[in-house]
Amino acid sequence: MLRVGITGGIGSGKTTVCSIFEKLGAPVYYADLKAKELVNTNLELQNKITLAFGHNSFIEGAYNRAFIASIVFSDKEKLKLLNSIIHPFVLNDWGKFCQQYANKTYVLKEAAIMLETESKNSVDYIVLVHSPMELRVQRIQERDGVSKSEIEARINAQMSEDEKLKLADSVIRNDQKHSLIEQVLTLHQKFILL
Ligand code: ATP
Repeated sequence: MLRVGITGGIGSGKTTVCSIFEKLGAPVYYADLKAKELVNTNLELQNKITLAFGHNSFIEGAYNRAFIASIVFSDKEKLKLLNSIIHPFVLNDWGKFCQQYANKTYVLKEAAIMLETESKNSVDYIVLVHSPMELRVQRIQERDGVSKSEIEARINAQMSEDEKLKLADSVIRNDQKHSLIEQVLTLHQKFILL
């Protein structure tokens, strides 16, 4: 079974691409959503976060995102620490997901950050969803109602698209010039034959 990673910066269209793969029958593991679920449900993970960041990390068992964000937002080392605590739990959960779908020819893992970290080693093949800056800003503005400068700051804090393009195995261009469905179909054919 082939493990395929789908990555791309915010607003690139990862989730849209994954929903097309899902229609073709491919199971998709949404890593960022799963991480949010795990910090709210896994007691061992919650204990580790509390040990590192203090008892304000949870309010009656619910993850205190605002508190944690206030710490990690301005401190890269703290962000690294948080990720190093959460990452093994997501990895383990992804392993279970792959086992559950062991009869499939391929499964997908969607994550915003993949090429930047050891997370790239949890998949066999990486697809980058690539979209021009103006379109990403426009889509996020429409979806989340945040300001242009805030979105640009978030995009600029991520690894550059040029670097990502060099590291990915395939690229899906979500730029209103290339058909998304055709690009997904081509990859689907490739993955079922690999
Ligand atoms: P994030 O990491 O911020 O969650 P994402 O990479 O998963 O973003 P999507 O949520 O798939 O991106 O897309 C962002 C927004 O743009 C969504 O509202 C989505 O419906 C829209 N969108 C993405 N691609 C297209 C497209 N090809 N045509 C029309 N709308 C699109």
